Amino acid sequence: MKCPHCLVEINPNFSETFLYGDKESFWSIFTMNCPNSNCGKMIIDLASGEPYRDTRNQPWNGLKSIKFRQTIRPFASGRSPVPPEVDELFAKDYNEACLILTFSPKASAALSRRCLQNVLREKAGVKKSDLSNEIQQIIDSKLLPSYLSKSIDAIRNIGNFAAHPLKSTSTGEIIDVEIGEAEWLLDVLEALFDFYFVQPSILKTKRDALDKKLADIGKPPMK
Ligand SMILES: [Zn+2]
Repeated sequence: MKCPHCLVEINPNFSETFLYGDKESFWSIFTMNCPNSNCGKMIIDLASGEPYRDTRNQPWNGLKSIKFRQTIRPFASGRSPVPPEVDELFAKDYNEACLILTFSPKASAALSRRCLQNVLREKAGVKKSDLSNEIQQIIDSKLLPSYLSKSIDAIRNIGNFAAHPLKSTSTGEIIDVEIGEAEWLLDVLEALFDFYFVQPSILKTKRDALDKKLADIGKPPMK
């Protein structure tokens, strides 16, 4: 598993604290500290399920089959955390949009639309306009691979921008969402983060490594 704090791959090694039950279920808290010395933060999961006991007629010892398990520290949505390469400006809105998705899809969608507009302006260099026009600019520029262009274009259809012009003219406004709209916005943002931040960073690391090899044998860096 990946540590939900630092995203480094770690071996799960949780200890269980059994909390006994209520009318609904039996409950336990599972905790572990991240073994990565740069992190070391505690991960806390809440779980419920069927209990077991080691000895008959003795108190329960813990949960044997788990029906529900949720990480409560760090409190996170079910979505993958934003990659560390992504600038704080965008990561913050995206993370908040993920966290509130289940409680308020319309608030989540408003944050996502604002985040999308920022990405289009800051990274894709579109001219400031309303969101629908900015989406059209990036599609017309043909700078994005077609799967991304189509995904961004779909935001206007899924969100029914024609019937809700405020979604385009006032992106951060909290307006009713269509089914699947808030999730789709997050999916598109995730794909854009990969395109604008993660992939360039991976290529840069590889390029730097190659340049170093070339320098070691006295050759000039790649052009
Ligand atoms: Zn960690």
